[in-house]
Amino acid sequence: MNDTDNTIKTILNKIEDHGILEAIGDGISIQDRNYRIIYQNQIHKDFVGEHIGGYCYKAYEKRESVCDACPVARVFQDGKTHTEQRSAPTEQGLSYFEITASPLKDMKGQIIAGIESVRDITNNKKAEEALIESEAKFRNVVEASPMGMHMYQMESDDRLVFSGSNRAADQILGVDNSQFIGKTIEEAFPPLAASEVPERYRCAATQGESWFTEQITYEHEQIAGAYLVHAFQTEPGKMVAMFLDITEKKKAEKEQKRLTAELLIKNKELEQVLYVTSHDLRSPLVNVEGYGRELEYSLKDLMISIDHADVPTSIKDKINPIIKEEIPESLHYIRTSVSKMDMLLRGILSLSRLGRYELTIDEIDMNAMMSDIVDSHRFKLNELNIKTDVSNVPNGKGDSSQINQVFSNLLDNAVKYTDAERPGAIHISGYTDKNQSVYCIEDNGIGISPEHQEKIFEIFHQLEPDRIKGEGMGLTIAHRILERHNGKIWVKSELGKGSRFFVSLPS
Ligand code: ADP
Repeated sequence: MNDTDNTIKTILNKIEDHGILEAIGDGISIQDRNYRIIYQNQIHKDFVGEHIGGYCYKAYEKRESVCDACPVARVFQDGKTHTEQRSAPTEQGLSYFEITASPLKDMKGQIIAGIESVRDITNNKKAEEALIESEAKFRNVVEASPMGMHMYQMESDDRLVFSGSNRAADQILGVDNSQFIGKTIEEAFPPLAASEVPERYRCAATQGESWFTEQITYEHEQIAGAYLVHAFQTEPGKMVAMFLDITEKKKAEKEQKRLTAELLIKNKELEQVLYVTSHDLRSPLVNVEGYGRELEYSLKDLMISIDHADVPTSIKDKINPIIKEEIPESLHYIRTSVSKMDMLLRGILSLSRLGRYELTIDEIDMNAMMSDIVDSHRFKLNELNIKTDVSNVPNGKGDSSQINQVFSNLLDNAVKYTDAERPGAIHISGYTDKNQSVYCIEDNGIGISPEHQEKIFEIFHQLEPDRIKGEGMGLTIAHRILERHNGKIWVKSELGKGSRFFVSLPS
């Protein structure tokens, strides 16, 4: 045994005595200058199996001579530490190792062996790959995003510096944003310097405080328009500002507001015209009716006078059909037309009054209202032997006198449009749907054919005006009242079976 062998032996004894190389989390092996393996700790044995006494190139690589890339060989050549990464198939799939070889020297500084540490870096490698993959995905998301993105990072001198952007940012701002890289936010976007934006971005980058704006408007031509901005931290010291140009949307909203206001004015004007015309048309109508009646009285006088007058029979025969048939018939048509026109004018008048009526919105005890309405129809219901059934209904918000009018109309109709084929039955029920109370008046009456179901809400629309007395106004008025309450009215009906009228009100 020579000096070198002795030194190695001493070192190995020390290593084994203290177990120091067992405590390290890496695999450790020592090879002498002939590449003979003279020591392996347990982890190393677990990695490659136990090969003490064997030659490393034979044991690990199944070769007859030392490998070209062997880090231990390089250590023997230049006396320096060498590191390399290798992959090897294992039971868990491909594993990655980092191999570091260092010289082991004797007292005189001579290299007497190579010490090799092997570290399993599979998890690190996988995490690295996952990071690369997620960064690639992030880049794809950033590029595909319809929202513009500006990235910033805080520099050590406390400057917030532009570090990148996406394609959408270029499209939205109409410039190549890469020109701003390396500039501070104030240098890149002077119009922002005086605003709260730099401070918000700083807070996002340094303290992770997200900032979300509903709308932020700039007048400056570089960034003119209305934007929605969401700024948030991506990692400490870094942040992203996502923004969307909502100028067009805002313009459209403004235009819509203007149109709605205009529509409101036009509606008011229309209601005014309707009111004035229907109101003013009634006075000549009263004259027509009054003078019509006068004519009837005069005609009666005329008839009596002619009957008693000494008029030749041939003339009486000529006059009688005129004064007893033709004139009374014409007067009858005048009378019915007047009363029809009067009814129409009253309808228009009441509709035009609705728009001017000041609503008083309260929570309405709908159970009480429904039973009052049923009670007020009791006489008719009993007379026609109609069964009524009122379930518990939720309360709703509205003007109680107008809502009463709606449900009274609906009950009137349910009573009016019964089917002679079967005993009438009316069911009133209700339920809550999100923030709406919905009520249903159901009858088993004549029903409404599908093609008429929309039309019945139009003014003066009656399906059988001659058979059943009505004005064709009830549903139009109900529709208008509910419109003003942010409510709705709709119908589901089957001809010959019955109808269900639904009303919704804010709950
Ligand atoms: P009116 O009942 O005075 O004619 P409405 O506006 O209340 O006017 O109703 C319009 C039309 O809708 C009625 O003429 C009728 O043809 C139809 N209608 C309304 N309610 C019912 C119902 N419950 N069953 C069948 N038809 C109905």
